[in-house]
Amino acid sequence: MKTIGLLGGMSWESTALYYQQINELVKEKLGGLHSARIAMVSVDFQKIEDLQHQNKWDEAGEALSKAALQVEAAGADFLVICTNTMHKVAPQIENAIRIPLLHIADATAGEIKSQGMQTIGLLGTNFTMEEDFYAGRLTEKHGLEVLIPPKEDRGIVHRVIYEELVLGIVKEESRAEYLRIMEDLRDRGAEGVIEGCTEIVLLVQQEHTPIPLFDTTAIHARKAVEMALV
Ligand code: GLU
Repeated sequence: MKTIGLLGGMSWESTALYYQQINELVKEKLGGLHSARIAMVSVDFQKIEDLQHQNKWDEAGEALSKAALQVEAAGADFLVICTNTMHKVAPQIENAIRIPLLHIADATAGEIKSQGMQTIGLLGTNFTMEEDFYAGRLTEKHGLEVLIPPKEDRGIVHRVIYEELVLGIVKEESRAEYLRIMEDLRDRGAEGVIEGCTEIVLLVQQEHTPIPLFDTTAIHARKAVEMALV
């Protein structure tokens, strides 16, 4: 079994899901007392979030590259960055390390395509919804058509992530807003919706909607286990 490298803490609410789901999958596949081999570094999210919102992405990339090197030094065979948003600095991190990166957008695109879907809605932080590093990768590298909500709704999705979900706060009214925004994407032609922020699954699960959801946390964790067990 390979050692999975986790770069976590963004936020720890979702890193905890990764840790649990990876171990549960390894237990399911190998049985007995097996558990995952994991090397994890968990950063202080306040610092990263400050740098994001001050538009200091190079500095954020530097901090995460340092943390990724620690994960590598701890024996990881490949790296999993436990957030969609911080894949904005994935190229910088990849340049700093020698081990391969399991990119969250590639794992997610693989899952979408395996279900035969082509047009997909995307919810996440404004960075993830609006910038090229994520939607652009889905389109250019994977040939998907990506729909995002209108500006005002993007603001709601972004605000709920940073003011509620990364703090583990789950509100009924926010769920209702997310469901409305997802339905809107479906009405515009989305065959499914990417929960493109690793905390969204805390708020909206598949049982809340008939629209097929792509939970990036679960998809990324599953792909990591597949890679670890080949
Ligand atoms: N975990 C979130 C994501 O997947 C947002 C937190 C962050 O800014 O990294 O994008």
